[in-house]
Amino acid sequence: MIHRLQRIVQEVNRARDIDSALVLITESLTQDLNAQACSIFLAKENEPGVMILQASNGLNPAIIGNVERKLGQGLIGTIAARAEAMNLIDAPKHKKFLLVPDSGEVDFPIMLGVPIIAHREVLGVISVQRAKNAFNEDEEAFLTTLAAQLATSIERAESKGRVSIEASTHTIKGVAGAPGMAIGVAMVLNRGVNLESVPDKKTDDIDGELKSFRAAVSKVCEELTEQAEKMRASLPEEECALFLAYAQMLTGGSLIDDTEKGISNGNWAPSSWRDTIEQHAYVFTQMEDRYLAERANDIRDLGLRVLRKLMLEQSIYLDFPEQTILVGDDVTATDLADVPLDCLSGIVSAHGSSSSHVAILAHALGIPAVMGVPNLPVKQLDGVNLIVDGYSGSAFINPDKSILAEYNQYLKEEEAIEQDLLVIKNQPAVTTDQHKVSLMVNSGLMSDHTPSLRSGAEGVGLYRTEIPFQIRDRFPSEEEQYLIYRNVLETFKGMPVVLRTLDVGGDKPLSYFPISEANPFLGWRGVRITLDHPEIFVTQVRAMIRANVGINNLEILLPMITGKGELEESLVLIKRVLAEIEEEVGEKITLPKIGAMIEVPSAVYQIEDICALVDFVSIGTNDLTQYLLAVDRNNENVAELYSSLHPAVLKAMCQIVEGAEASDTPVSVCGELAGDPLGVMALLGMGIDSLSMSVGSLLRAKKVIMSFSHAELTELLQQALALPDAFTIREMYAGKLEERGLGGFLRAGK
Ligand code: PEP
Ligand code: MG
Repeated sequence: MIHRLQRIVQEVNRARDIDSALVLITESLTQDLNAQACSIFLAKENEPGVMILQASNGLNPAIIGNVERKLGQGLIGTIAARAEAMNLIDAPKHKKFLLVPDSGEVDFPIMLGVPIIAHREVLGVISVQRAKNAFNEDEEAFLTTLAAQLATSIERAESKGRVSIEASTHTIKGVAGAPGMAIGVAMVLNRGVNLESVPDKKTDDIDGELKSFRAAVSKVCEELTEQAEKMRASLPEEECALFLAYAQMLTGGSLIDDTEKGISNGNWAPSSWRDTIEQHAYVFTQMEDRYLAERANDIRDLGLRVLRKLMLEQSIYLDFPEQTILVGDDVTATDLADVPLDCLSGIVSAHGSSSSHVAILAHALGIPAVMGVPNLPVKQLDGVNLIVDGYSGSAFINPDKSILAEYNQYLKEEEAIEQDLLVIKNQPAVTTDQHKVSLMVNSGLMSDHTPSLRSGAEGVGLYRTEIPFQIRDRFPSEEEQYLIYRNVLETFKGMPVVLRTLDVGGDKPLSYFPISEANPFLGWRGVRITLDHPEIFVTQVRAMIRANVGINNLEILLPMITGKGELEESLVLIKRVLAEIEEEVGEKITLPKIGAMIEVPSAVYQIEDICALVDFVSIGTNDLTQYLLAVDRNNENVAELYSSLHPAVLKAMCQIVEGAEASDTPVSVCGELAGDPLGVMALLGMGIDSLSMSVGSLLRAKKVIMSFSHAELTELLQQALALPDAFTIREMYAGKLEERGLGGFLRAGK
């Protein structure tokens, strides 16, 4: 059964559009379930609660597209309304039965129907019908399992089918990643080379494409023949023959002919080649003979070899559109480095959420991002016009004139808001009842520190040191790190600069230090790695302390602290480094202030013990939220559940503040919540008066602070804590912000 399931799902995933996918399903199911008919109803896009017969095999084809069922209407509508399967021996006798005239279904009274459900939404109903023999339990289980699996494929195929490059506006919805808006042109990220990620592209230069295809093929042919020769000495003859067989396949025949035909039809070489390879590999996977079925992998392997050569030939991404919107399945922080910053206007990623590091980086750079877009038709987007709305988490493909005009207006209003905010740049962040808040910036890019300095920030509250580690192909040396840290300490001379020790692992991998874990966020991460590798930790702390000599504004922050032990070990190492440097320079050096990040629930419950060991604590709301709510900060499937305004997160933060108060340990917040206007309101209400955020959020946060009294915010927090969930808390705070005329901080437009 599992093979039949896999085969159907594979066929559907390969389908180019929704209609061919549905035809495949109905044909396969009629055959696999020995049925006489199979039909699929799907929900109509623009008419909620109505389904239409989208495909049918075995009934009169004339009814396709001409039968509709409302929720609860007929058997199909009943299955959809109840979200439950129906298995009937005599369907026409059921009180809900509604005959489809001239369909031929009266001849097949036995019926099994199951709903197709994805993300709690009924997408449609699949039914199979027979003339005799009831559907047994196994068959019902098979169809239910298949419908569950197909739901995702149908969703994906539907979005593929609906997006037409020539068509007018198509809206896609993800989650808000980084605020702001951009109008630009999509550039599909092509990290590494693999067949699946080759985007569709049309070409006018058919001769040029044919030429580069032939050149790539002949290079691979040469290499394979050479490899066969080299291997002859060490491998048995039949193994060498494989290389020659590969080479043979490239000297002519259907692989070459089909691809050249695709190119002649106006497709660029990589996608023509991809289609040919997929079709040929598919034919092999269908073969009963296991040996032959395995050959599909050989075809794909060959496909990849030629593709690599082809991609080397294509210098497609040298020209970045002026307003590039980076689009990919899983855009990561390091991908941003591939696009010149002055061209990068927006980001759309199928995976990830607002607290993914790429979103945080985008926020820091002032680039709007939409994350976690289910079924993003990535391959079809290269070169397409896009609008990114990082407030609402939506994007518009091929926006029409009216949407363009609307967003151009929003962009103007946004500019006006920024302009108005400049007035308060040099004013202190004080509430209307004179409560002073210190505003710092989060940093970590090697880029210019000038915007942070000019923003009126009072220092760097979080410097993420991992980025310089991520953009290299080896650990940076002590000297390289020294220069980076010296630069930031000097730039902010006279103001505190909090350098966080290396926090890699989780979603921040190092290419040269691969870690493979089933649950990276619960694995080897942050201080766990650096304590296991004291040489990395010591080198980094040496660079920090040396950089601080003569400037004395360094504070060191330790990430992912889960208990006293890690802190004590870190402190021993830091003090040892200090003593070594003192000996080297021959003078006394002050120990920098040392802080712990509170971002893991165990640290919340040990806050008093932790505070006894450190000079300050900084709340990492991004991780604290993910670990408290058991919601992966990068997983778009649960992105809706991720909210730092969740009552549990607010309560945990109140507990931190209370615990730290006993020892007078300063508490600051450096997670994304600190730069969220609503977060600012909640955090001030808790009595927190030090916030560190992306530079782009600073003036908005200041404006919020200046618009409320501390007493009011304290009172609002009490109201928030009595509310049942994150949604109502957000609504409550948003309402108050609107009342002060600051609603434009939360959405597009004033
Ligand atoms: C946090 O977890 O809130 C934080 C500031 O650290 P990072 O986002 O780098 O994990
Ligand atoms: Mg963190």
